[in-house]
Formats: sequence, structure tokens, C-alpha cells
Amino acid sequence: SLLVVGSANADLVVRVARHPAPGETVLGSDGLAVHLGGKGANQAVAAGRLGARVAFCGCVGQDAYGERLAAELGAAGVATTALATAADAPTGIALITVAESGENTIVVAPGANRSLTEARVRAAVTAAVRVVSVQCEVPLDAVRAAARHASRLVLNPSPPEALTAAPYAAEILAAADPLVVNEHELRVLLAGRTDRPRPADLVPLLGVRSAVVTLGAAGAVVVDGEGRTTKLPAPAVPVVDTTGAGDAFTGALAWRLAEGDELVAAARWAVLAGAAAVQEHGAQLSSTACGKLLAVGV
Ligand code: ADP
Repeated sequence: SLLVVGSANADLVVRVARHPAPGETVLGSDGLAVHLGGKGANQAVAAGRLGARVAFCGCVGQDAYGERLAAELGAAGVATTALATAADAPTGIALITVAESGENTIVVAPGANRSLTEARVRAAVTAAVRVVSVQCEVPLDAVRAAARHASRLVLNPSPPEALTAAPYAAEILAAADPLVVNEHELRVLLAGRTDRPRPADLVPLLGVRSAVVTLGAAGAVVVDGEGRTTKLPAPAVPVVDTTGAGDAFTGALAWRLAEGDELVAAARWAVLAGAAAVQEHGAQLSSTACGKLLAVGV
């Protein structure tokens, strides 16, 4: 089975005509939209809706948002027995404003995500867990615990600054099989190591076992343990909202790896999941999109 270790937030979204300048107040949409968010939860939901046997290990607060996130994860087919509740911190919140131009601003209060412990992660990696997928929106010692205990680790170093700041980043990177990065994360991780960062550099320069680089509309590149690359183009699709494309991609990739696919075969599914995500609003892959994807297959 698959275990996703990571962040869960309540995304609080207001639509505005334009963003306020500092000190200014603007009126937004009458209602506040509340969605489940956070990279960990987004990946787990994508995998769950695709039919994965998936559990989520994270931490929410003892409040209404925490209960709501747990219920939404469950409804997406994600097991929540490893979802912890912090006694002394509120559920993580992302305050999001979306302007008519499509540009958004996001402020995150991590709250209970900061309370995820090494011990919780260790306990969640049971013998049945074949793949652990982790991002970097939770404490880095929880990420390291995932790296130490996983039989196979999918590592999405997002935000990349969180990983590069860790004194034991090299140990975490050495377990990544694959490291999954977008072009921005590729540049940040290889900064100072090469003038012209290329996907193939990730294996020798960072010591990861394999890597997948997502290239937006251009699809993705898979890098194997010898540094050999395979390019996987994305289908041309109408783009509605690119938010969460990377999370849908990684959730689908981890699902297929847990099912026993080879990395390139798993990445073909991931490219299709990413392309499905950009065709709809919001950060999470809908069950409708997952249904279509499963009907077509690869
Ligand atoms: P992130 O969301 O982390 O910035 P990318 O923009 O690289 O990551 O997108 C992740 C994946 O989503 C891509 O590898 C691709 O499969 C899919 N994707 C993103 N943008 C498009 C697009 N315009 N058309 C088709 N697929 C896309």
C-alpha cells in the first residue's frame, strides 16, 4: 500500500476584483470557500480517488477544520488512522485571495503541521507499506523518519528551501527513489553545484537514486539510477487552473509505484493525472477526472 506523509490545511478562498495594496481593504466574494489543501493531503486525495490503497500521516488541530479535513480525506478513500490531532495547535490554514486576473496570493499558517513527530511517522510505516511519499511542508525530522523507514521513498522537496536548510539533507536525498521536482525546485536544489542545471545532474550531484522532473505543458523527464533520461510529453489540453498539477502528478506516480509499476510506466500515468488537473479548478484532482483517466489508462 501507499503512505503519504505530509501537510493538511484548510484552504480559505475569497475571490476579489483586484488584490488590496498594503493598508487597503477590498470587498471580496460574499462567501468564503473552504477546501481541503496542503501538499500531503492533495497527493493523498489524488491517489485515493485513483483507487490506491492509501493512508495519510499528518497532523491537524482539535477544531472544526481538523474534523472536516479528516472527513474529506476519508470520503476520498484515504485511511486516516495515522492522522494525529495536536492538543495545542490549530489546524493549518492557507488564506488565499484569487483576483479576476487569475493571480492569487497565499499566506500559510502551518499550525498543527509543525507538530508532526518522527515517532508518528515511524509508527505509520507498517510492514504493508510499499511506498512512502513525502513533501517538505512538515518538520524535516518527520521527513527524515520517512526516509529512514520507507522501503521506497518518493520525495517531493517542496518548498525546496526547507530541505536545503536541513543539516541532514544529504541523508534524505540519498533515499529518494525518485526525487520529484518541478523546474523551479530543480534550479534551487542544484544552485551552486552547476551553472546549467539539467535533469540528468540530479542523480550524480544530489545522490538521489532516481528523479522525475515535471516540465509543465512539456510533460516530464524521468532520470534513472545511471542518469539516463526518458522524456514523456504531456497531451495538449485546455488549461483552466494549474494549481495542484504537481500534487496530482506525484499522487498518481506514488500510487503506480506502490502497485509495482516501473518508474517510467508510473510516470506516464502521472503525466496524464497532471494534465487532468490543469483542466479543472482547484488544487485537488476531482473524482470525475480520475474516472476518465482510469477509463482511458495508458
Ligand atoms: P507544478 O504544479 O509543481 O509547478 P508542473 O507545472 O511542472 O508542476 O506540472 C506538473 C505536471 O502537470 C506536468 O508534468 C504535466 O504532466 C502536467 N501539466 C502542467 N501544466 C500542463 C499543461 N499546460 N498541459 C498539460 N499538462 C500540464
